[in-house]
Amino acid sequence: MKTFQIFNLGCRVNAAESNLFAQKLIDKNYQPTTTNPDLIFINTCSVTKKANTESLGLIRRLQKKYPQAQIIISGCASLKNLKNKKNLKILTNSQKETLLQKLHSSYTPQIADKFSHTHRFLLKIQSGCTHFCSYCTVPYTRNYLWSLPIKTALNTVKKAINDGYQEVIITGVNLDQYTPGLSNLLEKILTETDVKLISFGSIPVNCIDQQFITLLKKYPSRISNFLHIPIQSGSDKILKLMRRPYTRKIILDKFTLLKSINAPHPVKGGDGGGFTFGTDIIVGFPTETETNFLETFNLCQQISFQKIHVFRYSPRPNTAAQKLFTLSPKISKEILKTRSQKIRSLTSQTTLPSHQTPQN
Ligand code: SF4
Repeated sequence: MKTFQIFNLGCRVNAAESNLFAQKLIDKNYQPTTTNPDLIFINTCSVTKKANTESLGLIRRLQKKYPQAQIIISGCASLKNLKNKKNLKILTNSQKETLLQKLHSSYTPQIADKFSHTHRFLLKIQSGCTHFCSYCTVPYTRNYLWSLPIKTALNTVKKAINDGYQEVIITGVNLDQYTPGLSNLLEKILTETDVKLISFGSIPVNCIDQQFITLLKKYPSRISNFLHIPIQSGSDKILKLMRRPYTRKIILDKFTLLKSINAPHPVKGGDGGGFTFGTDIIVGFPTETETNFLETFNLCQQISFQKIHVFRYSPRPNTAAQKLFTLSPKISKEILKTRSQKIRSLTSQTTLPSHQTPQN
């Protein structure tokens, strides 16, 4: 029997796809292993320059360690700096997803949730993004839109519950582009399945609509009371340059609504009830002045996030922000460091992850 090993980098969408890819291989009588695999699947990430470099490093190490193995590469990393492509088969995100889509309706207990906790099922409901935020490369590597039909999602959730999963984590590249509507899906899962807990990878600001708020109020114990809502900046000027589809006022209005909900299960370290929040912030976006930064700092302070992923802006190839970066005066490393530290100081749990998506 042939064996395989999977290496996953990046966001939960990648993780969900890696799980499905594992299933595809198991269906073809491959066996998972951690030593001497015949086939290796690497799902890469390029959300930051560092993530891309780490993806290439991993490929090189595995090529050296397992010269006989067939290595399949997918994900978002740019491979242009990879000189040795021996033994490599490149699968674009689009090819990978076409291959995997058949599996969305054929959930089986064999899908061990390898990349997350065993009683949490990763439900990928959407892929692709055509939004073109100015700093992001995702629309260049996933320039298509796919949404899991609500009916298929419900069947998958029911099967996951039957298999003993207690929690479903809803994930997608840009849930704002989930065609049936995130709130509509959430309502169906809550009313038509017995799932104990629903949580989310991250929720775009614009998905927080009235229906979503109503559901949070109605089913507080069945929806995770930690919500990760990436805002990226609190400055209208920077949000516009980033091409984010909301303003500072919209952010504030949504969080005011969310904070008015009194969830019954207080989170350790939270404010004693209600929902707690996480976010992603990019500091040092081209042309960000001290005033712009302070707008972000003050907004984060006002919202009081429990967790903030701080990213220092790094120019990504071919993006609009890269052009702006080239044309504008550089923000010094010291200033970038100070701004990162200041945002981080707002919460004791703030982290600087290398493999967390700042996209949505
Ligand atoms: S940041 Fe998110 S919404 Fe914006 S282009 Fe990237 S994936 Fe799309």
